[in-house]
Amino acid sequence: MKGSARAVPVLMYHHISSSPGMITVTPEHFAAQMAYLASTGHRTLGSRQLSAFLAGEPVPAKSVVLTFDDGYLDNWVHAHPVLQRHGFTALCFLVSTWPCEGEVRPNASSASSPTELPRLLNHHEGELAIDKGRADEAILRWSEIDAMRAAGTFEFHSHTHTHIRWDQVTRSRDEKRARLRDDLIAARQMLDKQLGEVSDHLCWPQGYYDDDYREIALDAGFRHFYTCHTGSNESDETRAGNAGRSINRLEVRDRPASWLASRLWVHTRPAISRAYLRIKR
Ligand SMILES: [Zn+2]
Repeated sequence: MKGSARAVPVLMYHHISSSPGMITVTPEHFAAQMAYLASTGHRTLGSRQLSAFLAGEPVPAKSVVLTFDDGYLDNWVHAHPVLQRHGFTALCFLVSTWPCEGEVRPNASSASSPTELPRLLNHHEGELAIDKGRADEAILRWSEIDAMRAAGTFEFHSHTHTHIRWDQVTRSRDEKRARLRDDLIAARQMLDKQLGEVSDHLCWPQGYYDDDYREIALDAGFRHFYTCHTGSNESDETRAGNAGRSINRLEVRDRPASWLASRLWVHTRPAISRAYLRIKR
């Protein structure tokens, strides 16, 4: 493939960890997937480059975006060192009430032996820890977030302030809208305070959104909405920037690099990607 990309695949990861789970990729598979991207000349786009591509600016063929949801500690322990080795950048979506203060913990490149690494909870254990007010056991610290930003391995964006599905826990539409508005405003304030900046990229908790969600999020200043819809992303310069843009993602499985290669082959070719998704449905 020559010239510029026709479509940009956005990959979705959660955990990179040896603690097994449905949305967990092992460090070995993750390292192999990133080595495949590097050896085949892929480059990773940051949020600004993705935004520019969606608005009609060309980006090189073999561009991909890496995303990580929720901000798990294992992203620091296992993903950051691999991204650093390849000079890759990923987007991490933080739930801004979850990160705690404290010192940077050892990771796979700083630890002299694996026994020094922090214990990594599986997804279910992590959910329980967060529920019980022990998010620090499962989630990145602000100090680790700073180190990842300084290294250029990760950008940090919003995944709301609480991860609560307001559509499920409120009794009226007005209440849902009010709670979501408060949540998104608090998220922006916290990221601005901790990072000194906040972007217009937002990842929907559990991929859920409706017309109210979009309207409130646009009002709060978000323009790019990361979904769990499978598919590729094409540029569309005709679309007004103020209307916001939904971004499709590919959920990466705990599979070898060859599996990722086949997904990318499909989803960098818009017509084939659409046909593939039609058949799958
Ligand atoms: Zn999430």
